[in-house]
Amino acid sequence: MPIHNREIADVFNRVADLLDIEGENQFRIRAYRKAARIVVDLPRNVGDMVREGEDLTRFSGIGKDLAGKIKEIVETGVLGQLKELEKKTPPDLSRLMKMEGLGPKRVQTLHKELGINDLDGLKKAAEENRIRKLEGFGEKTEKLILEALERMKDEGEKERIKLFAAEQIANDYVDYLKKGRGIKDIAVAGSYRRRMETVGDLDILVTCKKGSQVMERFVEYEDVAKVLSKGTTRSSVVLRTGLHVDLRLVPQVSYGAALHYFTGSRDHNIAVRGLGVKLGLKINEYGVFRGKDEERVAGRTEEEVYRQVGLPYIEPELRENRGEIEAARNNKVPILIRRDDIRGDLHVHTNETDGRQTLEEMVQAAREQGYEYLAITDHSKRVTMAKGLDARRLAKQIDAIDTLNGKVRGIRILKGIELDILEDGSLDLPDDILKELDLTVCSIHYNQNLSRKRMTERVIRAMDNPFFTIFAHPTGRLIGGRKGYEIDLEAIMKAAGERGCVLELNAHPDRLDLDDHNCRMAKEMGLRVVISTDSHSSSDLDFMRFGVYQARRGWLEKDDVLNTRSFSEIEGLLKRK
Ligand SMILES: [Zn+2]
Ligand SMILES: [Zn+2]
Repeated sequence: MPIHNREIADVFNRVADLLDIEGENQFRIRAYRKAARIVVDLPRNVGDMVREGEDLTRFSGIGKDLAGKIKEIVETGVLGQLKELEKKTPPDLSRLMKMEGLGPKRVQTLHKELGINDLDGLKKAAEENRIRKLEGFGEKTEKLILEALERMKDEGEKERIKLFAAEQIANDYVDYLKKGRGIKDIAVAGSYRRRMETVGDLDILVTCKKGSQVMERFVEYEDVAKVLSKGTTRSSVVLRTGLHVDLRLVPQVSYGAALHYFTGSRDHNIAVRGLGVKLGLKINEYGVFRGKDEERVAGRTEEEVYRQVGLPYIEPELRENRGEIEAARNNKVPILIRRDDIRGDLHVHTNETDGRQTLEEMVQAAREQGYEYLAITDHSKRVTMAKGLDARRLAKQIDAIDTLNGKVRGIRILKGIELDILEDGSLDLPDDILKELDLTVCSIHYNQNLSRKRMTERVIRAMDNPFFTIFAHPTGRLIGGRKGYEIDLEAIMKAAGERGCVLELNAHPDRLDLDDHNCRMAKEMGLRVVISTDSHSSSDLDFMRFGVYQARRGWLEKDDVLNTRSFSEIEGLLKRK
């Protein structure tokens, strides 16, 4: 039974949550969370690796104990330790823990003192004003809890998963369905197709030849935990990861209309339908229909649907009703950047700091990506946890790169560093070593809780240094995790433009920072961005596509992105005046 990396990660995260509620040692809890991240990021299916007898302890962060647990999950589908923990602590408590204003300690108190095990119990207790009476809680907390519950209801209770994880699940499911007989078209619609950074559920559309058993095959998939409904044109399941998946079987004549309808966004669809109404057209998931007798005029393809309302095709990433319809009417839809426009990666780590591969291996991997150039940007000394480079070690790396540049063909290795911007806006290494580099990727890892004003000043001050080239992961957010620090990005972008600095769109699927709105703001301010993977292993170089998706959602074209340029062009562009 194939098990997804994400499922194993989920088990570890659940263990960590429950240990946290129990008040376990933080070191142990962090080890589980770290293992979860490592497993999710692995380029291959862990189940396959276990079956092939690969030694998982070669990944740093996976010790003997965790490797054994992974093996147990792969082989039995469950982890005994989690079962034991769940006996002691109701698993729903870990959901409470993620609510604003609560944390493991408070959840533990709620559980022990009031017997609260789930969201319903929490709501009831808050409404009956029982929470405010607990020590360490008050009226304010109680109100906060009620508000958070209300918001959760609005947002729907489904957890959203990162596009990266959704992609693994969707690809496997689609491949499996395609192996069945009689499928003609198949697509995953919804926010997945719009390449949103997180996905709430999957909507799969298919067209089939007569007699295909696609619905049977769909509900028989081995990852299905529960079949919610099964019909002849629509079925719904929940996967073991908790992800909801719908399958719709549509007639060929409706495929384009259905794809358009289920891709959304809702606001985009409403706007398109509105255009239709003005032209006497009715547009729905079955097709485009004209007049009283509802004559079908389109529906086979999305292009047809758009054509009926006088528009050119609009790429899914743009369909958010953020001006794309006006742009299309004026023939000004951007020609979005594509993955194969990218000619190099400007932010990668090696095992000199916290990367997994050597300099040579990273260069080889970049060549395999077909890149013309690669910048090596290991951490600077402030990042002690990653064994950050001081001036002496950086000088050694510079020499190593010079030597390697003399040997390798077909790719140029740029000398760089990921340089910490210190609290006062100074840079982590002295100018006399920075001047030996081709570029710097400057970023904030510490002292993230400054005020918006001080944070903004800090970065602008750093940009005053002529060796500051690229501002990396500019907001510091982690998707589904940290919110990011307070910073005035508009002021930063303006200052960057004036100084000839560049902003990074960090393509790591946990970051995607800049987000789509910020990308668009950069474009509107005439600022170029670079899309970089922040790779910590050679397989991370594949993250580039996620950066490109986000850039597309932010309306970026090839010209807006610096690393679509050839090496000779980029060399000049990276130089500050
Ligand atoms: Zn960083
Ligand atoms: Zn980095």
